[in-house]
This record gives sequence, C-alpha cells and structure tokens, in this order.
Amino acid sequence: MFNRVKNLARYFTLNLLLSPLKFIKQQQIPLNPMTDSFKCRKNCGACCIAPSISSTIPSMPNGKPAGIACFHLDENFQCKLFGNASRPLVCSRLKPCFEMCGTNRDQAMDYLTQLEQLTSN
Ligand code: SF4
Ligand code: SF4
Repeated sequence: MFNRVKNLARYFTLNLLLSPLKFIKQQQIPLNPMTDSFKCRKNCGACCIAPSISSTIPSMPNGKPAGIACFHLDENFQCKLFGNASRPLVCSRLKPCFEMCGTNRDQAMDYLTQLEQLTSN
C-alpha cells in the first residue's frame, strides 16, 4: 500500500514538474520542435537507472533502488519488457519528453537523479 502511494506521489510530482510543457502543448503554442514529437533516444536508459521504482518488477519483487539498472534493461539500454503485459504500469506511463530526457544521456541522468532526491522520503 505504501509503495503504491509512493509511486503515485512520484508520478504526480513528475507530472507537476512537467506541467508547464503540458500547458504550452494544450495552448498549441509552438515550442522547441524537439518537444512536439519527442522519442526515446537509443543507448540511454537513464529513466531505468537513475530513479528508484518501488512497485514490483518481474524478477525484482521489491522494485529497484535509485542508481541501479533495472534487471530488464538490455545491453543497448532498451527495455526487454517493452510491449509485454508484465511491464510495470509506472514504466509504460512515463513518456519521453525534452524536460526529462534533455539532449543527451548525462542530462537525463542529472534530471532524474535530482527528481529522485526531491521525491524520496
Ligand atoms: S530518459 Fe528519455 S531518452 Fe532516456 S531512456 Fe528514458 S525516455 Fe528514453
Ligand atoms: S521494466 Fe523496462 S522500462 Fe521499466 S525500469 Fe525496467 S527496463 Fe526500464
């Protein structure tokens, strides 16, 4: 139960931090073209490493700690559970966006590490 609440809190905090982007999108104001059709970058995997995940992941019943790669991240930093029903909801709901992913992997790691620190405890 606590884990579920923590996951929801993180999800809503993430959405709160991303809300300016959503507002701009709702108003259909042109922004950086990168944000309009943002796609997950190859060889990144920052969102599968930097944050902790408290919900159950297949083969990781207690979730995963921050800074540790998920068991399902492959050698190309892609999710082996992508498209699989067992992929955690928290993962499938997290969409790539410029604010989180930045322009490179280091930026994404920094952003997600800071977000983790802001939302932990
Ligand atoms: S941080 Fe962004 S670019 Fe990197 S793996 Fe996650 S969604 Fe993809
Ligand atoms: S299940 Fe897939 S998307 Fe979720 S953290 Fe693990 S590798 Fe990343």
